Amino acid sequence: MELVTRVVASHGTHARRRVTLIAMSNDDAEGWGECGAPDDPGYSGETADAAENVLTERILPALCAHSRPLRATEVRAIVGAILPDAAARHPMALAAAEMAVLDLQLRLAGVGFEALIPAPKRAALAGATLSNAGSIDDIVAEAQRAVDGGYRRLKVKITPHRDSATFSESEMVVALRAALDDDIMILGDANGAYLPEDLATVIALGELGLDVIEQPFADHDTETHQRLVATGVIRVALDEGVRSATDALDAVVNHEATDVTLKPARFGYLACLDLLNAAVDHGAGVWIGGMFDTGVARWANVRLATHPAVDMPSDIGASSRYWAVDVTEPVVVDDGLVTSPGLRTAGLAGTPVA
Ligand SMILES: [Mg+2]
Repeated sequence: MELVTRVVASHGTHARRRVTLIAMSNDDAEGWGECGAPDDPGYSGETADAAENVLTERILPALCAHSRPLRATEVRAIVGAILPDAAARHPMALAAAEMAVLDLQLRLAGVGFEALIPAPKRAALAGATLSNAGSIDDIVAEAQRAVDGGYRRLKVKITPHRDSATFSESEMVVALRAALDDDIMILGDANGAYLPEDLATVIALGELGLDVIEQPFADHDTETHQRLVATGVIRVALDEGVRSATDALDAVVNHEATDVTLKPARFGYLACLDLLNAAVDHGAGVWIGGMFDTGVARWANVRLATHPAVDMPSDIGASSRYWAVDVTEPVVVDDGLVTSPGLRTAGLAGTPVA
């Protein structure tokens, strides 16, 4: 699928996405899963092609060999029996298969995913990701349009050490902060592009008004992340650097991050739900991370983001920010919120239309 606008990130430009959807059905219902693996290996090493291959050749045949309806909690053990390293090597493929089974299970039971959440909210807090394309003026104008559209949190890709840059990251943050009200949260996603010697540069971004930095340093660089957190001048979240939902919380406990990004496309909806249900107060903010999702996963993320433990705006923008035509009913943002399908709408995923 072609993105409506290209998004420039430190590891490359996203203009289109290969999307793998899984339909899993029996005589009574159909469940859907979406694989978040991107086209190129720059994010976590897992690619859309490799994920589709392992799904069609190994994971789905193993699941479909069972003639009875499966429970989503069985998926990892069944796949692990034939592919012991699946969780480590193919986390997004595995999460997509688990998602389809969970969606089918909930649809067969006639209940919405929110039924698994204690006291779900009616709506999820939305966040917009800016394209980071063009001049500073272009970026500020795009930010202003997002705020006018009701978004209270903007994510901008941070691309240091980019040869083609005509402005610095600090100039961009200064311009955004000058144009936006103080209560608009600005999050910079560096995708691990800063080097340890850039620590002072990242600290300066916080002093200039960047509220949160996501994955500033390489995903193995515990020490520099801890040094940044210790300064207290900016909130820090990890993305590429966490491999599981428990990893995400451990990073906060270990002072590598102040906030938790939960990516169900990588960790699976069940693991994210378990973590949220067990959430103890570490003073961390929690939000749901996205992967340029279609409505199939985007609606599922809306439902997960109604968990009361998700207290910061999530990577959930309107479908129209990404796709000219989404594959499902579009996700719509109103005054910074997306109304959840609710308990009475069975399932987890968005349902593709025709
Ligand atoms: Mg990220």
